[in-house]
Amino acid sequence: MNGTARAGTVWELVGQTPLMELTSLSKLTGCRIYGKAEFCNPGGSVKDRAAKGIIRDAEQRGLLVPHSDPPYTIVEGTAGNTGIGLATLAAERGYKVILTMPDDQASEKYAMLKALGAELDLGPACPFANPNHFYHRARAIAEATPRAYWANQFENPANGDFHYETTGAEIWEQTGGRIDVFTCAAGTSGTMSGVSRYLKEKNPNVRVVLADPYGSGMYCQVRTGKIENEGRSVTEGIGIMRLTTNFKAARIDDAMRVHDQDMIDMLYHLARHDGLVVGTSAALNAMAAYRLGLELRGSGAVIATILCDHGTRYQSRVLNEDWLREKELLPRPLAPVQ
Ligand code: PMP
Repeated sequence: MNGTARAGTVWELVGQTPLMELTSLSKLTGCRIYGKAEFCNPGGSVKDRAAKGIIRDAEQRGLLVPHSDPPYTIVEGTAGNTGIGLATLAAERGYKVILTMPDDQASEKYAMLKALGAELDLGPACPFANPNHFYHRARAIAEATPRAYWANQFENPANGDFHYETTGAEIWEQTGGRIDVFTCAAGTSGTMSGVSRYLKEKNPNVRVVLADPYGSGMYCQVRTGKIENEGRSVTEGIGIMRLTTNFKAARIDDAMRVHDQDMIDMLYHLARHDGLVVGTSAALNAMAAYRLGLELRGSGAVIATILCDHGTRYQSRVLNEDWLREKELLPRPLAPVQ
């Protein structure tokens, strides 16, 4: 199927997203900077791909059977977008969905999940070592529920493998094999794992740079081999403090940290110059792509990143001036090119 083909279901609509040029950033850097428009997926984010990859793999192994009576249940711990992806596809495939989530995410995500019919199990955000962490609660619920399957997006290789097969291959084709640099942040690292493996297999000289928010340990992991962090971030769905199967599979050359203020500056820059209101992880990714473009200024290098979801998903936060003021994150113009 290509971007203009007919699709009968949300299942068929996952992927084949446009690769958009972020024209204002290309002009400022003299490179070609592109963002993969993942907000075009039916559930509105890059995580529809993980959801489809995980469900498809479980169905192939007979662990999930669509449209059964009584229905099978998909259980997952999620910060939101994976849950929306799973609930979107599950509605059409006749599955029940139970999601364990931290209770501090943007309210838009909970509203969307309820609309899709998912059952939510909310708990306070807590460290991974705490048995009440949403990850452990999901496993426990899956173990106690008949006909249930734990998606386990962090450790499930079907997540990264689906990005290898689709996101990586699409970026390679959409750049005509001319890509020089790829950058994105990691949550489960499914995107980074799949895309980096695909691109490096095609051309080992493609430079892969992890973009990491403050509060995440992966910048230090890549730079020094130790998971250490400092600071914190308002970004959602990215940053992690442990090595996961999907992260270990990624082929990363270097890492960059992006501060929330720079992320917000980019979010508003893209809104005002490219007509594109993206979510916080997408804005962080675009900031990383812009900085890599400045390093290669005037070279015409092709740089690609991921626009993970749309800004409307965070309307009550980053599109709300009171919230921005309270967080001391009011947007500033992008720093002028030196
Ligand atoms: N951005 C957003 C908004 C997300 O929800 C996620 C997934 N948690 C990511 C980026 C990271 O994607 P991945 O899990 O493939 O690393």
